[in-house]
Amino acid sequence: MRPIQDAFPLLQSPKKIFITTHHKPDGDAIGSMLGLTKYLEKKGHFVTAVSPSEIPEFLEWMPGVSSMINFEEYPDEAHKALFAADLIIGVDFNDFSRTKHLEKQLTNAPQPKIVIDHHLFPSPVWDYGMSIPEKSSTCEMVYDFINLCGDHELIDKDIAACLYTGLMTDTGSFKFPITNAGAHEMAAGLKRIGLDHTSIHEAVYDSWTEGRMRFLGYVLIERMEVFHKYNAALISLSRKDLNLFNVKNGDTEGLVNYPLSIAGIRFATLITERNDEIKMSFRSKGDFDVSSFARQYFDGGGHFNASGGRAKTSFLDTIVNFKKILSDIHPQ
Ligand code: 5GP
Ligand code: MN
Repeated sequence: MRPIQDAFPLLQSPKKIFITTHHKPDGDAIGSMLGLTKYLEKKGHFVTAVSPSEIPEFLEWMPGVSSMINFEEYPDEAHKALFAADLIIGVDFNDFSRTKHLEKQLTNAPQPKIVIDHHLFPSPVWDYGMSIPEKSSTCEMVYDFINLCGDHELIDKDIAACLYTGLMTDTGSFKFPITNAGAHEMAAGLKRIGLDHTSIHEAVYDSWTEGRMRFLGYVLIERMEVFHKYNAALISLSRKDLNLFNVKNGDTEGLVNYPLSIAGIRFATLITERNDEIKMSFRSKGDFDVSSFARQYFDGGGHFNASGGRAKTSFLDTIVNFKKILSDIHPQ
């Protein structure tokens, strides 16, 4: 992959640009996609932002959401935009398989492909890009990219709100070890532009329905198992649980982090029985590498302290299998 600066000549004149991100997008995925979209539009490009799947409700306030295409809802429009594009940009994912529905089309697309991402192991499919796992978030990298282009003054309040969202969510509100000086410098830079960080925090974190809050109570009482001797905990949610509480897209967001607030617990796992797969989420504190764990056992990957994966076994077999792995590897 060539450095992103080598792609600058491609951006010298107005281009049709197709931007996408990963399936089941989070704050960093949507924030980086919409922030970059707004910036490139200001530079005179024609940009189509496509989310491979529906976005969670707590992100619906974001500037630019209404012109974004949800692939699951409008696949034909998304295909048309991809076909017509001069250039493809992927943000917050390393491999086309992470887009799920768009994997085939992206793999076969002849256009130059640019990536901006902070996951480990970028796939060789990208022509140009920035892939820096030490970065707190893809939003931080989009901020760097805009500055690298010499366009700091083009960052307006809307772009700032988009980029701050991913910075805030991917750093756990500036708590995770990945929160480097650059992350704080970016927050300072955005504040100088007039960022209202409190309203963003409230929109993302204090927008629960009563049902979601009660579901959390149920999960912590009924569905969390704690294995003190392994410093680990597991939350497992069956389809029945999700239906019982009418759990919506985004309502399980952040659940996996709760066990890490128990003293001594350094490895937390969430197993969710989705309609089409068994989804796994892993989080850790300290030096237990959940990215390798996800890759080795659950067909996934991600970051050192936050990763995800999937299982092909049934929900109950996956739980049994997970516990067996836990006792085999005995995390400390
Ligand atoms: P989550 O648990 O929120 O789905 O994922 C946690 C982190 O791991 C996110 O940064 C996400 O992008 C990444 N991740 C989740 N699943 C996968 C996967 O299958 N492969 C890779 N490479 N990363 C993943
Ligand atoms: Mn991210």
